[in-house]
Amino acid sequence: MIDLHTHTTISDGTDTPAQLINKALASGIKVLALTDHDSIAGWEEASAHLRPGMDLVLGSEISCQTEDGISVHMLGLLFDSKNQELQDVLAQTRDNRFGRMERIISRMNGAGIEISMEEVLAQLSDGATLGRPHLADAMVAKGLAKSRDEIFEKWLHNNSPYYVAHYSPTPERAIALIKAAGGVSVIAHPMASLRGRTVGVESFSSYVDAGLDAIEVFHRDHTADQRNLLKDIVKDLGILRTGSSDYHGTGKINELAENTTEPDQWQALEARADNRRVVRVF
Ligand code: AMP
Ligand code: ZN
Ligand code: FE
Ligand code: FE
Repeated sequence: MIDLHTHTTISDGTDTPAQLINKALASGIKVLALTDHDSIAGWEEASAHLRPGMDLVLGSEISCQTEDGISVHMLGLLFDSKNQELQDVLAQTRDNRFGRMERIISRMNGAGIEISMEEVLAQLSDGATLGRPHLADAMVAKGLAKSRDEIFEKWLHNNSPYYVAHYSPTPERAIALIKAAGGVSVIAHPMASLRGRTVGVESFSSYVDAGLDAIEVFHRDHTADQRNLLKDIVKDLGILRTGSSDYHGTGKINELAENTTEPDQWQALEARADNRRVVRVF
């Protein structure tokens, strides 16, 4: 089983990188990608806990925004962590998320919802990428709802009056940065329309021109029809297809390897990186 998209406490997942590695090994996954939002801070711990039998693919899910303000998530895998330009953009996004959270909170306070930045930060691991899920966790801790899902549905979805965007590169810029760092780029859940507006299929060719390597086709948030449509699209565009869980521990119902990537697709994808960077221990 090949699962190319997972999160840990380095962003909005609930397992530490070490716990994720142990769970993935126990569930028989053969190739696992670690893709925390806008961060590579979990790479070292995950690598240190790897054991024989599973390949580890180091990556990040990069938050992007189109010129029209549509949110896009771009998975970057197998890039060189020493590429400064890419790291600078990730750092800028992470920093910007704090001011953005202050603004979300002040909008909520204005509407009479009592929540503070301190309560949100208490939900965040040291140095982790701050996101709406941490605000949701703080609201659950206050008894405002039972789960992240409920909080998102009621207050935190992309079309809510409390929604504030944060700095993010465009998808084309993120792809170019990933490629310049020698990695491969995969657009994550491009048709997950429940989260908010999605880009039209016509944008995919501009992403391919920028260097896009694959589309995440098999994902919980895609219907069977969307998967079939995306399968045709990747064929037409001459790029690859992946599938993955987008595991977040107890932060989402997604189970490890509930969707997977076909071995031939992974092999071709890995070959597109400029160096063999898969982590493997013997
Ligand atoms: P942010 O990066 O702060 O804009 O928050 C977006 C993140 O919130 C996504 O990456 C998801 O992991 C998470 N998310 C979105 N919708 C939900 C939901 N309904 N339940 C739990 N988590 C969600
Ligand atoms: Zn997330
Ligand atoms: Fe995502
Ligand atoms: Fe994700």
